[in-house]
Amino acid sequence: MEQALSKMQEYNQRVKKLLPGGVHYNFNLPWEETPIHFVKAKKSRVWDMNGKEYLDLYARFGAFIVGHGNEEYNESLKETIDRVLSVSHFDLDAEALELIAQFIPSAEMIRFGLSGTEIVQNALRLARAYTGKNRFVRFIGHYHGNADNIMGGKPVNKEEPVPSDYKGDLKGTEGRAKDILENQSYLIPWNDDQVLEDLLIRKGDEIAAVIMEPVCVNGGSVMPAPEYLKKVRSLCDQYQVVLIFDEIITGFRMGIGGAQKEFGVTPDLTTLGKAIAGGGVPVSALAGKKEIMQLLVDKKVVHAGTFNGYPLGTAAVKSTLEMLSRNQGEAIVKMNKRATDIYQIMKAEADKVGLPLTIQGPCGCAAYHCTNKELENPSQYSFDIMSLDIILNTNLAKNGILVSSISRLYPNISLDQEDVDWFRSHVKQALEETKELYD
Ligand code: PMP
Repeated sequence: MEQALSKMQEYNQRVKKLLPGGVHYNFNLPWEETPIHFVKAKKSRVWDMNGKEYLDLYARFGAFIVGHGNEEYNESLKETIDRVLSVSHFDLDAEALELIAQFIPSAEMIRFGLSGTEIVQNALRLARAYTGKNRFVRFIGHYHGNADNIMGGKPVNKEEPVPSDYKGDLKGTEGRAKDILENQSYLIPWNDDQVLEDLLIRKGDEIAAVIMEPVCVNGGSVMPAPEYLKKVRSLCDQYQVVLIFDEIITGFRMGIGGAQKEFGVTPDLTTLGKAIAGGGVPVSALAGKKEIMQLLVDKKVVHAGTFNGYPLGTAAVKSTLEMLSRNQGEAIVKMNKRATDIYQIMKAEADKVGLPLTIQGPCGCAAYHCTNKELENPSQYSFDIMSLDIILNTNLAKNGILVSSISRLYPNISLDQEDVDWFRSHVKQALEETKELYD
């Protein structure tokens, strides 16, 4: 074991010489201080270079919903590779698009892209063109990708109340174009329609869009307050503002119709990504009202991308949505049942060892927090809670359970009873180790 471990560490050093930090993105999972290199995967399990086995509730930041080695999914990709690997317009386009339109209420028309980041930018561009206005509203604790104008930053609208106990990282990133946040958006607290209304009363004539995660998964998997989404919808109508739901996580994970179906609130534009193509290959999508998407038809708004609509991606979307929707969404119901078992076990074991723990959010994209009280707003996700969550995250990984940073639990449709049993037998140690530090 000792020798095997050093083999992976050695490999890690080799990678680090060329790869900054040894990882392909900066949002390191805590256990990636020494990244784990994986060699194989099956269903919900992955194995590292040392032969150590893990239960994969990380699922590539929630994208990987089909499970490893999913035969139906893999066959559809193989068939596509053998038939037609690279063309711009593919003979599965209609099927894939019709499936999205069938399930996502706002999807009157759809364009494909590759990443969530780019598709969010395209949504904002469309909203600006449609309204003739310039700025957008975004919310503390929500994440919409790795672009200069949308990451972090101080709440720009200084008059707006920002909860004084908010200790999250508002810094975002160095190196962005000067004043890009201040000039483009207002960053305000979420789940408070009065704050939004006050802003729209004063600045509605310059606001093109309101963008939010309808369930704030990135801010701790926080649910919208009752009626909040409906109120936001009506405010957007009143002030001629395009409402964008970023359903890159919730789309297809919070039921096949996303949060918009679940809550009965239809946005003007929806951004989709991650699980839309199963998680094995990258696809994002911009879905929206015909009237707004018409700007693309008329070529008044540019949307471009070398690989948009590539056959493997389109085949993956078709295969994934067929699987998720078959027999009244049986696969998601089953996945949610296993996930619920896992959450109940985690809570019961935490109670036994005396570690405060709350699990919240939709089944398909829940989060745990080391606190006794459910977060009602991402701004309540304090540094203290987050720090403990990170420690538990690391201890879970040490004990053979991978979760997504910081504390998200992403099930996939291949989860079975053996996985639930594995979780039961491995979670206790991780909770105990975290409790020791908590004390
Ligand atoms: N929006 C949301 C809600 C996300 O969670 C993410 C990714 N975590 C993005 C946008 C950006 O997507 P991508 O990483 O594919 O650029």
